[in-house]
Parts: sequence; structure tokens; C-alpha cells
Amino acid sequence: MKIGVLKETDDKRVALTPETLKKHPDVAAHTIIESGAGLNAGFNDDAYTAVAGVVSRDEVLKGAQVVITVNPLADEEMAKLTPGTILISMFEPYNNPDITGQIEKHKLGAFSLDMIPRTTLAQSMDILSSMASISGYKAVLTAANQLPRYFPMMITAAGSIRPAQVLILGAGVAGLQAIATAKRLGAMVEASDVRQAAKEEVMSLGAKFVEVEGAKEDTTAGGYAVEQTKEFLERQKAEVQRRAAKADVIITTAQVRGRKAPILLPKSTVDQMKPGSVIIDLAASSGGNCELTQGNSTYQYNGVTIIGNSDLAEEMPQDASRLFSNNLMNFLKLLIKDGALSIDMDNEIIAGSCIVPLENSSK
Ligand code: NAD
Repeated sequence: MKIGVLKETDDKRVALTPETLKKHPDVAAHTIIESGAGLNAGFNDDAYTAVAGVVSRDEVLKGAQVVITVNPLADEEMAKLTPGTILISMFEPYNNPDITGQIEKHKLGAFSLDMIPRTTLAQSMDILSSMASISGYKAVLTAANQLPRYFPMMITAAGSIRPAQVLILGAGVAGLQAIATAKRLGAMVEASDVRQAAKEEVMSLGAKFVEVEGAKEDTTAGGYAVEQTKEFLERQKAEVQRRAAKADVIITTAQVRGRKAPILLPKSTVDQMKPGSVIIDLAASSGGNCELTQGNSTYQYNGVTIIGNSDLAEEMPQDASRLFSNNLMNFLKLLIKDGALSIDMDNEIIAGSCIVPLENSSK
């Protein structure tokens, strides 16, 4: 059996690092890596050669029984694979509804790493949390770079500068990391979420929790938020608008699995923001939390910089690859026994992440 890792076509990350492979020689012995796959993340071919096979892209496509990428392979490359090959990637089927049909068409099987259940048992494979945490950190650094003023309070001989006011909407994995990073930089931070559990976490990081009455919660949703009523969202928008007018930076991360992201910053709110302020919308790929977000792009609106970006993790490719790789290896260990594939569909992690079982593709 061969496990193949390809170079990403539009991303600096690599799915498996030499460090992870070195720690797992049983898997490394079956692994082939495309030459140059790790270069943009700081891992050269020499580092891989010491632990696994380094080959051409075509050799991976033709020779591997399991093909791993960070982002889904293009349709024309799926066509080059031997039917029965298994793909492992972040397919995001919720945002990419045609993907399963495409994989079935080529008679391939697929596991989507973003579909691994977010349970305690699967915590070591939770790529979504690893990447979200980096995104939250990078969002604050990006905002600080764009902001025409300091984050911390400054008392100087030339006068005093008040600290920047940062508002974080959605205090899940990315939001909490953003709070911690903004606090470390000395900003005044407020945050809001619809889950009560988030309140304590926000306060324990030294930020103020913005509470809006009447949020709906569902304890069976696996820790995720559920869609809110129209009335609640209207009340929330009004509360956010009051705070947005004073904010220097707003970072939005609010998502509801399987649905379009809720609009928390309508145009009327952005109209009241100060020139020079910055919005970073990490929910851009699922429609955005700001009505004015334009996909993954950056532009100015009335002096406000609006940055849509759900892929900030790839801007820190080395550590993003390290965490991705460790999460992925923990998942691979579930699929491989004694050097061969052994897929136990009774295992809830395997079943939960399998978006195209091979038997569907062979019909
Ligand atoms: P996410 O990316 O789906 O959403 C980000 C945040 O947006 C969430 O905190 C959500 O509550 C919030 N949100 C949704 N609608 C909102 C609205 N209208 N206003 C304000 N906020 C809104 O979530 P995530 O960060 O991936 O994870 C969320 C939670 O899932 C975690 O905090 C945790 O409870 C749970 N989780 C559990 C595990 C585990 O047990 N291993 C792992 C990861 C996450």
C-alpha cells in the first residue's frame, strides 16, 4: 500500500511534515511525497528523503492507493487516479455540495477531515480547531497591521494614546484565540456569542462579554451554535451596531454548521463605523458575517477596510502544516493496520468523516 502526499497548487501548506513522518516510521515506510511539496512551508526534499519516498507528481497520482492533499484535488487530476483510490482532504461538503458527485463519478472514495466528529475521542484529529486557532491569531495581527493606530495604550511625552477597541463576534475556537491575541497586544476587547458556555471562556480571557437575551441553544448540536430566530438576530444587530460605532477593529467568526453565516454587520452598521477602522470577516467562505464582505478580498468602504478571509491559516504555513500533519497522522492511524488499509465503518470517527464510501463509487 502507498500513501501519497501531493504539493498544493494554491496553498503554502503541506499535509504531512517530515517531523510527523519521523515519529511514525510504520506509516512513513508506506508514504511517497511529491518533490517540492513542503518547500513553501519550510520543509525541503532532503528532510523528506530521510524518512519517506520523494517522487514526481505523476508517480503519486498513479502509484498511491491513498492520496492526501490539504485542499481538494481538481477534477482533471481526480480523473488521472486509479478507480478505487481513496482521497483524504478538507472537502467542506457543506460549502461544496457538488464534491461528492464529482468523486463518485471518478469511482474514488473520500474522507473529509473537516467532517471528523468534534468529540473528545477525536480531539487529536481536530484539524478545524487547529486551523481556526491560527486564523484567530492571524486575524488580529492582520488587523493590527492595517489599523492606522496603536493597539496598546501609550503614555508618551508627546501625549497619551488610548488603547484600541476590538469587538469579536463569535467566540468559538477562532474567536477565543483572537481575544487572547488582542489582549496580549494591549487592546480593550469585547466579544459576543450565542452559546452560554462561551461567556465564561470570554471572561476568563479578560474580555467583556456582550450578552443578547433570548439566544437559542441545542445541547445535541455537538457544541455548535444553531440558527437563531429573526427576532434574536435583529436584537443582536442593534446591540452590535451600538458597539461597532466605537470599535477600531471588528473580527467576525460566527458560523452555523451547514448554513449560510448570519449577517451581524449590515451595511447600516458599517456606515456608522469610524474611518480607519478594520473589519476582518473569517466567515467569508460561508457567505460572511458582514453584508459588505466580498468573498476572500480586501477593499475600502467609506474609509473602513473590509477584509474577507477564511483561509488565514495558510498565511502561517509552517506551524499550520505541523498541526495539520499531526492531526492527520492520528486519523491515518485509524485507517491503517499492519501496513494495510483497514477501514472499520463501525468506528464513529471513520464513519463520520467518510463522505464517499468506495461501494458508492463502484456502482
Ligand atoms: P464555528 O466555527 O462553527 O462558529 C464560531 C462561533 O460562532 C461559535 O462559537 C458559535 O457559537 C458562534 N456563533 C454562531 N452564530 C452566532 C451569532 N449569531 N452570534 C454570535 N456568535 C455566533 O465553531 P467552532 O469555533 O469550530 O466551535 C464552536 C464550539 O464547538 C466550541 O467552542 C466547542 O464548544 C465545540 N467544539 C468541541 C470540540 C471537542 O469537543 N473536541 C472541538 C472543537 C469545538
